[in-house]
Amino acid sequence: TSPYARVTVLGLGVLGAQIALQTAAHGVDVTAYDVDDDALRAGRERLERFAGAAARDLPDLADAYGAAPGRIRLTSDLADAVGAADLVVEAVPERLELKRDVWARVGAAAPPSAVLATNSSSLLPSAMADATGRPERFLALHFANRIWAQNTAEVMGHAGTDPAVADQVEVFAAAIGMEPIRLHREQPAYVLNSLLIPLLGAAAELLLKGVADVETIDRTWRTATGAPAGPFQVYDVVGLRTAHAIASADPASRAWADYLQENYLDRGRFGVESGEGFYTY
Ligand code: NAD
Repeated sequence: TSPYARVTVLGLGVLGAQIALQTAAHGVDVTAYDVDDDALRAGRERLERFAGAAARDLPDLADAYGAAPGRIRLTSDLADAVGAADLVVEAVPERLELKRDVWARVGAAAPPSAVLATNSSSLLPSAMADATGRPERFLALHFANRIWAQNTAEVMGHAGTDPAVADQVEVFAAAIGMEPIRLHREQPAYVLNSLLIPLLGAAAELLLKGVADVETIDRTWRTATGAPAGPFQVYDVVGLRTAHAIASADPASRAWADYLQENYLDRGRFGVESGEGFYTY
């Protein structure tokens, strides 16, 4: 069972809505905060959409997911949102100054006993810990998109996190149906993306150099390792717009960004979400 009775989620976007839903579906009281009524309305729609998707993927839990959105309290008042929280999970946009500002306000308004966790994908907890005013009770709890199905929860403290707090967050993650992944030290990109990003990069390089085609590269990975999907199948799931945005951010992957733009984005091929990417769905 969850060591935390009351959980607050900050930001009801793609990930925040999934975290709020998953937590509520496992019987924990959830409050969700977003900036204004429009954001809360959009968040409410996301909760319903994800509840439908989760219920389809996990029919045994359909009732729990169906009831979960109605059990989540929504508010645009931050002090009200965190005032009685045992755990606060932050899923606001990926900008360090914004996150530090949010954490400073949460640190001032949440009970001293509350544990604070960031879902940031690329910013390290050590870059925000001091802003919370309670670095020993702060860590990263990182979910993957479609969290009810791809249910890893990476638990990663910074050097000053109390290990007992990380232990407790691991228990929480398991209690809401996640597979906890404990990291013993801070690592950019956690375990999952530390493995996945080089694999996807190597696949792109093999394709660009003309060494082998998409199907052959994927088949090699599947046959030789027993993995269910090859790297280009993973690209299609991640989405080619996201892949392009990541490639564009690094001058070293310029050629790959251009390749994706010309052959895929310009032709409306965005991966699984659009029905066509490296493969047709
Ligand atoms: P998103 O843009 O879908 O959602 C962000 C939400 O935060 C929006 O609802 C927005 O209104 C709200 N917001 C904006 N300013 C805020 C503020 N000051 N206080 C509270 N809420 C505010 O983003 P997302 O994809 O859900 O990502 C959120 C976090 O989760 C990021 O740190 C990201 O790195 C991480 N993450 C994303 C994914 C993914 O696949 N999208 C996966 C794992 C982790």
